[in-house]
Amino acid sequence: MLTRNPHETWSQFLQYIEERCSSAEFENWLAPVRVLDASAEEITLEVPNIFVREYLLDNYKRDLIAFLPTRISGEPAIVFKIAEAKKTATPIESAESTAPHNPSFDATIPPHNDCKLNPFYTFANFIEGPSNQFVKSAALGVATRPGRSYNPLFIHGGVGLGKTHLLHAIGHEIREKNKKLRVQCITTEGFINDLVDNLRNKSIDKMKRFYRSLDVLLVDDIQFLQSRKNFEDEMCNTFESLINQNKQIVITSDKPPGQLNLSERMIARMEWGLVAHVGVPDLETRVAILQHKADQKGLRIPQKVAFFVAEHIYNNVRQLEGALNRLSAYSRLMGFEINEEMVEKTLGELLQHVPQKKISVENILKSVAAIFEVRVSDLRGTSRTKEIAFPRQVAMYLAKELINESLMKLSSSFGGKTHSTLLHAWKKIAEQLEKDDMLKRQIQMARRNLEA
Ligand code: ADP
Ligand code: MG
Repeated sequence: MLTRNPHETWSQFLQYIEERCSSAEFENWLAPVRVLDASAEEITLEVPNIFVREYLLDNYKRDLIAFLPTRISGEPAIVFKIAEAKKTATPIESAESTAPHNPSFDATIPPHNDCKLNPFYTFANFIEGPSNQFVKSAALGVATRPGRSYNPLFIHGGVGLGKTHLLHAIGHEIREKNKKLRVQCITTEGFINDLVDNLRNKSIDKMKRFYRSLDVLLVDDIQFLQSRKNFEDEMCNTFESLINQNKQIVITSDKPPGQLNLSERMIARMEWGLVAHVGVPDLETRVAILQHKADQKGLRIPQKVAFFVAEHIYNNVRQLEGALNRLSAYSRLMGFEINEEMVEKTLGELLQHVPQKKISVENILKSVAAIFEVRVSDLRGTSRTKEIAFPRQVAMYLAKELINESLMKLSSSFGGKTHSTLLHAWKKIAEQLEKDDMLKRQIQMARRNLEA
């Protein structure tokens, strides 16, 4: 690589990277780097702060090696020099330094990278179901009594399941109830960019003052802090300072705190309050979400079609919304009526294959044994006492209902019973179900366990 002028290789490196990263990233991290000296053996770079050096080495080591000189060890031969603080203040800094000292002065200036609350992400628009009831009530608790219920509230779960929605809902609710409280919502990326901007502008104290004077700090996607040690320390200090003042913090993440690659101190902080999981919504909740979003668009979807869509798009609410947008566009542009056939045509590849959970006699026996508090071995055995014989018949009933196998085959899985024993058990339980509410609940419970 180094047959060219060594200075040129840096520009080529920059050119190469510029095409491969966002312009914000380029402006923040790469543009400020200056070449102080370059030879065929080594290059000396001036970086505004230590974070930029780490950033370069963490993210672009391979490319640096490809473009710049390397040492025998294979490491890039770069000497980093941290730029000295500028002696002359910028006009803004000098204007502020002559302003009377007022601690809230800086604090009213929001950082560049704050994120606006999405107006649709409110509690009213959040559909509740068994997968998110707990986290929603925790979020409401925090929104009603910021700093006085759980602190921090840590929300984790998979992609597109409503974490950001809940985070913004907390922000809306607090702002609505108490206009005086200073609520700041940031993405972790935003916080890092802010930190970099302020380091570069030598205004880090101002930023610290800003964050530490908040009443509520909402931080989205903390997983992006992983492997960024210096930023992590600053975030952790901010958290500690706020928590010590009983200021509310809410954090979202794609993993629980213990599974994040962060320092023990940071993990301990995050586990201090309440850790709440948001799960994949069940079918009924997905249908309700779909219908709610359709209502908002003024779109009417027959319930049967909503079930069809929700059955086939099951692990991500964002995808469900994408499907709805597509349906809405087609039905408006083409004047189609929304029905199952149209849905299959329009959504095509978005529809996932619905996995049929394979239910085995073994699973049924385990589930029934747990509900009736008997042992699996007893259910397989020959005891005719009522306490054993009855749950055994329930298991046989469930096997015939849920497993698509011949009676012969099923009965052999029950320790050599005949197929007529199984049929008799099925009939008896089916009849009793008509009049026995307790049994109905027990069977529902077993089915839910098995089909979940
Ligand atoms: P995450 O941050 O977990 O990746 P988002 O909060 O961005 O997910 O949610 C993705 C989309 O799904 C958003 O448009 C959100 O409004 C919607 N959504 C998720 N869960 C629900 C819910 N329970 N009720 C209504 N909308 C939901
Ligand atoms: Mg999100």
